[in-house]
Amino acid sequence: MKQFDYLIIGQGIAGTVLAFQLQQSGKSVCIINKQQKFHSSSVAAGMYNPVSGKRMVLAWKWKEMLESGRNWYGQMEDFFSKKFLTEIPTYQCFASIKEQNDFSIKAEDSLFMEHLNASPEKVNGFKDEFGAFEILTTGWLQTQELLPALRKNWIEQGNLIEEEFDFTSLKITDEGFTYKEINAHKIVFCEGFEISKNPYFSFVPMVTAKGDVFKLKCEHIPQNRIWKKGLYLVPQGNSIFKAGSTYRWGKTNPEPDEEGKIELKEKLDALLNCEYEILEHLSGIRPASKDRFPVLGEHKSNKNMFVFNGLGTKGIMWAPYMAEQLIGLMENQIEIEKSISVKRFEKYLEA
Ligand SMILES: Cc1cc2nc3c(=O)[nH]c(=O)nc-3n(C[C@H](O)[C@H](O)[C@H](O)COP(=O)(O)OP(=O)(O)OC[C@H]3O[C@@H](n4cnc5c(N)ncnc54)[C@H](O)[C@@H]3O)c2cc1C
Repeated sequence: MKQFDYLIIGQGIAGTVLAFQLQQSGKSVCIINKQQKFHSSSVAAGMYNPVSGKRMVLAWKWKEMLESGRNWYGQMEDFFSKKFLTEIPTYQCFASIKEQNDFSIKAEDSLFMEHLNASPEKVNGFKDEFGAFEILTTGWLQTQELLPALRKNWIEQGNLIEEEFDFTSLKITDEGFTYKEINAHKIVFCEGFEISKNPYFSFVPMVTAKGDVFKLKCEHIPQNRIWKKGLYLVPQGNSIFKAGSTYRWGKTNPEPDEEGKIELKEKLDALLNCEYEILEHLSGIRPASKDRFPVLGEHKSNKNMFVFNGLGTKGIMWAPYMAEQLIGLMENQIEIEKSISVKRFEKYLEA
């Protein structure tokens, strides 16, 4: 039998950041992950942006999230001596006169304006007839590079097994958990939208949001910004961009489909007035909770069994901070705040 402090199920951004943080604090981890092409973290464009939504409000806890993200993604960069986080501004075109007017009102708020450039230089290639502004504190994480790099490292170190977790092989003992040849003191489930198949946490009410992205080539627009209007274009180098995304609520098949392709193409044509070539269509299911906040905490009746889920549309920015909160609970019994605790959903467990 192999002995670990933690058994982690799922290696999306949640499981990855959590396992890395635990290892950095001296804990031993074993990760079980079912490798799939179309899971949320592997198709995500990886963007983070403290100015959120159509109403343009500063995102919840943005300062703490940004600080934690820079710290932990920075530590991963140091670990691999490789850059994963690119901090570049977002050039956002107004979609209407109304948006432009709303922005003028917002521009009176100096806290908000710290993040913005209200009059960026015009760039060719976009349908920006209502003008544009720039968000300065944005960027993106190369999840497609980071997750496989850590996976490879963990497989080589004997810390990651590529298989579907078999719930019938999990035994709960006085010392913790036994799974096949593994003993662990604690177990954390990080399965994204597939939490619905987990017999211990399927009570958490989730709303799935399928998203589509294109990998495309466009030689007419520069690579020094994220470009946005309804959808975003994230530069990947060599005239390649990731363009996304759609929000198709309630869909549970992660495979790309025609409906998503058409919707995304329409959004793309509302932004670009130059030629481009679609190279690939990817899609995945975002794991959003009913109230759209993360879901962290311990199972009500199984001590040392935890959940880390509900990262929804903001997994990149949320994961490092949320992993810190969960470790605070698991290691030092620091209560998770109510708005993100799994406890808020325990009424569904009793139902
Ligand atoms: C098209 C699209 C674009 C997006 N763009 C962004 C963006 O720009 N910025 C941003 O912050 N967020 C974005 N998101 C959202 C972001 O991807 C999610 O918030 C995040 O990836 C969720 O991570 P997760 O680790 O919780 O789940 P997942 O990424 O779904 O990972 C779960 C992992 O668990 C594994 N697993 C599940 N069940 C089992 C089992 N029984 N046994 C073993 N392994 C299992 C899965 O195979 C997977 O590897 C986007 C999402 C989509 C779909």
